Amino acid sequence: MTDRMRNLDRQRRMSEAVKAQRRCMACHSQHDKYEMLRLVCDESGRVWPDVLQKAPGRGAYVCWDNTCLSRLRDRHLHAAWKDRDIMSGQTAKLPERSAVALSGLCRQYVQRQRHGLRIGRNAVMHRMWDRTPVLIVLAEDAGIALRRQLLEAGARRSEAGLATDFLAFGDSALLGELVEREKVSVLAVDDTPLNKKLRQYCMWYRQLKKTE
Ligand SMILES: [Zn+2]
Repeated sequence: MTDRMRNLDRQRRMSEAVKAQRRCMACHSQHDKYEMLRLVCDESGRVWPDVLQKAPGRGAYVCWDNTCLSRLRDRHLHAAWKDRDIMSGQTAKLPERSAVALSGLCRQYVQRQRHGLRIGRNAVMHRMWDRTPVLIVLAEDAGIALRRQLLEAGARRSEAGLATDFLAFGDSALLGELVEREKVSVLAVDDTPLNKKLRQYCMWYRQLKKTE
């Protein structure tokens, strides 16, 4: 590669990195756009979370964070879509709309993995004997006894060189919704690189639900 080509390549990579940055409407800090929540505005002036960032039209960005989302006011939306007649008073609904969109994605994700899915304490404890990597998704209101049992099983696996990872996602009612049951304290899925998305959704969900 010549110096000129190397320079062009560097410039291209730098401009791509800059292009992928977006500024949060609420706190004005810049982040990688794929780590932010994209909002879109429909014809009737309603603003929606576009979690997968695929909806057509111009998007506006906000941190995946309860603090930033709850700081949004009508004026932010008017500034983002100057050409639209924005429906007023809807910013208070955005954190909940975003949480619903996220849990919907988690549900689709978990249900796609059906054959590796284990639901509830017994099925998950049984899965701990299997040698393949496992990802345990635990409800935040799971009891101490269950937590201890899972952590001990995880420690035994780790001594045997087997991979176990833990992830927290909402409470047992919400975890139940993911698998169409009433309440579920724990579930397990085969841990593959594809779970990167699930980890990200769960992290965003926690950031949305955290209180200051
Ligand atoms: Zn922000």
